Amino acid sequence: MGLLEGKTLLITGASRGIGRAIAIKFASEGANIAMTNIVEDDEFCNVSDECEKLGARVKRYVSDVADFEGSQELADKVMKDFGSIDVLINNAGITRDTLLMRMTEEQWDQVIRINLKGAFNLTKAVLRPMMKQRNGSIINMSSVVGVSGNAGQSNYSASKAGMIGFTKSVAREIGSRNIRCNAIAPGFIITEMTDKLPDEVKKEWSEKIPLKRGGTPDDVANTALFLASDLSTYISGQVIQVCGGMLT
Ligand code: NAP
Repeated sequence: MGLLEGKTLLITGASRGIGRAIAIKFASEGANIAMTNIVEDDEFCNVSDECEKLGARVKRYVSDVADFEGSQELADKVMKDFGSIDVLINNAGITRDTLLMRMTEEQWDQVIRINLKGAFNLTKAVLRPMMKQRNGSIINMSSVVGVSGNAGQSNYSASKAGMIGFTKSVAREIGSRNIRCNAIAPGFIITEMTDKLPDEVKKEWSEKIPLKRGGTPDDVANTALFLASDLSTYISGQVIQVCGGMLT
């Protein structure tokens, strides 16, 4: 029997990278998968096919995390389709990296809207069903740069730091309803998001990591599995850094 047998996962931005790895890992552990993406493309369909092959009940939803009302409608649809939302993973995220001197208002707003407001939108949308269930695990995908800051990423770092404050506050507000809320702060994980970085930046990051390698999406998915499952029933309001020891 899998660690998530009978539980329903709602995960945002699951077409590739970390989101894809989590959807597949959770499917292999017996979860039902409600997965979202901003567009319905081949990558997104391939992930749902892979989850189905593992025996999971799967449904794809096209939804923009930045849309408040759309997020509420999404949660209503998932409840109708699956009957519960046991785990929410606010995974969708973007970068618009540049030095503050050059950053436009639009670059700032886009990142805050998708990364931080997106987590607010979805968390708010699942609160009612989770409260009624008196059970739930919410996992916010932050980043080590939300803890340390990073030159060229002031918008992204601010959004990810905001997610940490949000996580801790939510954990305090709804712990009495048996709903846990934690954040994962990945370090340098090899996905399309980080592949866009120049080679010298990637080399420099890897050299700084005590474990001497970038992380894999599976490294993050395993941590999400722990936080979603009953292995972590007494853990809430925490930030787990999955970074090969880069930030201690
Ligand atoms: P990724 O490969 O860029 O994937 C991001 C996913 O989010 C994609 O499926 C993307 O869809 C989707 N998405 C983007 N905007 C969306 C929106 N408005 N509504 C719904 N979905 C949207 O990123 P990743 O590397 O897997 O990262 C996943 C999460 O981990 C992000 O929150 C990221 O900030 C965080 N993280 C990553 C790293 C890393 O090293 N990779 C490190 C720390 C934290 P499309 O593909 O269709 O655009």
